[in-house]
Amino acid sequence: ERLNKTRLDNQESIFANPRNAAAGSLRQLDSKATAKRPLDIFVYGTGLVQGLEFKTHAMMLETLQGFGFPVNPVIRAGLTIAAVLSVYKDFEARREGLPYEIDGMVIKVDDIEVQRQLGEKIKSPRWAIAYKFSAIQKTTGITDIIVQVGRTGVLTPVAILEAVNIGGVMVSRATLHNEDEIRRKDIRIGDKALVMRAGDVIPKIVKIIETERKGTEIPFKMPEYCPVCRSRIEKFKQDRSYINKCVNSSCQAQLKERIRHFVSKKAFDIEGLGRKIVDQLVDEGMIRSFVDVFALEKEKLFSLERQAEKSATNLTEAIEKSKKIALPRFLYALGIEHTGENAAKLISEEFSSLDNIMTASAEELETIHGIGPETASAVYRYFSNEENKSIIRQLFISGVEIENKPFLSKQMQDSPFNQKRVVLTGTLGSMTRSEAQQRLENSGALVTSSVSSKTDFLIAGEDAGSKLEKAKKAGVRILSENEFLTMLNNSLSRESQ
Ligand SMILES: [Zn+2]
Repeated sequence: ERLNKTRLDNQESIFANPRNAAAGSLRQLDSKATAKRPLDIFVYGTGLVQGLEFKTHAMMLETLQGFGFPVNPVIRAGLTIAAVLSVYKDFEARREGLPYEIDGMVIKVDDIEVQRQLGEKIKSPRWAIAYKFSAIQKTTGITDIIVQVGRTGVLTPVAILEAVNIGGVMVSRATLHNEDEIRRKDIRIGDKALVMRAGDVIPKIVKIIETERKGTEIPFKMPEYCPVCRSRIEKFKQDRSYINKCVNSSCQAQLKERIRHFVSKKAFDIEGLGRKIVDQLVDEGMIRSFVDVFALEKEKLFSLERQAEKSATNLTEAIEKSKKIALPRFLYALGIEHTGENAAKLISEEFSSLDNIMTASAEELETIHGIGPETASAVYRYFSNEENKSIIRQLFISGVEIENKPFLSKQMQDSPFNQKRVVLTGTLGSMTRSEAQQRLENSGALVTSSVSSKTDFLIAGEDAGSKLEKAKKAGVRILSENEFLTMLNNSLSRESQ
């Protein structure tokens, strides 16, 4: 609050919440600017540690404290589940009295060996879980209800609120999801409402306060025409309610959202192509599809309102750089329904090339662990559409290049054959020569046909002949078929952990 006050005094923009303030401060290019920010820290974990082993998480924290790192004094270890619950209740009651804001606690498995066995998911470990406190609720006024058109054309009503501070965050909008929710909660423009915000979740309206009703409140009506392109809105049944959709595929509002998603950080990650510029480019007809992003010329960008030459140069460079993209990001960028970052990653890992994904059936897609029938059929439908296929072809013509390395690299890094020169000789009992070669190459090996002093391994099957002799003379390490299979399988099982 003090920092925001000085920023206001200096006519700088204020931070929405403490987390943004801390993250923004650390991201400063000038460390002197960071040093001026009133930051403080508690340490909760370590990155890579060499030369030290800990049996438990608590012992690690103790050691860190011994080194002089600030460790939160309220951390407790060795509790039963019942004790965890009582600590939780205690802190929920005490949270307002703490000198910093918290929205819950993290409960961790203390035993490091058990932590290791539990492993990690893509974004979070399996041995730690956030236990959030119930959300803080505040009362405020609803000044308007507007309708937003999403990437797929779905209309979402949004309540515009009188700005209110909820748990350290200024809230001025709340999603209303759909028409049914508005009707069920009888939300009207002009109402006073109870609004809550839990963690990172978008603020939502809990209920309206009927005793505050004056009779002048206006009920919301879903528009019959898209507020942007004026196409007629169609209703579709989804689960037990209806969604309203603008089905005009060239709707500017949808296009803007699709382009925004396409260039966003987890997709093509084109820095400098923010919301305002995308809006402008779509409005001026310079972007009509994904392909146009890669045809943006510096001169034309420069001609845009408020666009300086330097930023136009930076932007064209960022666009050029973004053309090399990993498969999961590419797949995510397309903005296929029900296909978020995680699904894109799982599908990419399973099929390893865009061609394979594009030709996969919905049934094949659904066999992937973690991919449900909705995603499988959405992906299949997307790649069955000729227009989509044509756009993808044009993207490649524009110079987009999918890097296939990222998901092979993990398997490769762990493999004893990674970066090794390998020669195969004789007959293998369990697979053909070409299968063996394929598996070795997938593990990062360079398979060559002749033995030299540079050869790292010779894999000798039945009836190995002159190459075996030569390898023995050259001191090359010789592997039997069994040894070869064991090494291959070890690296695979490590990978799947
Ligand atoms: Zn529209």
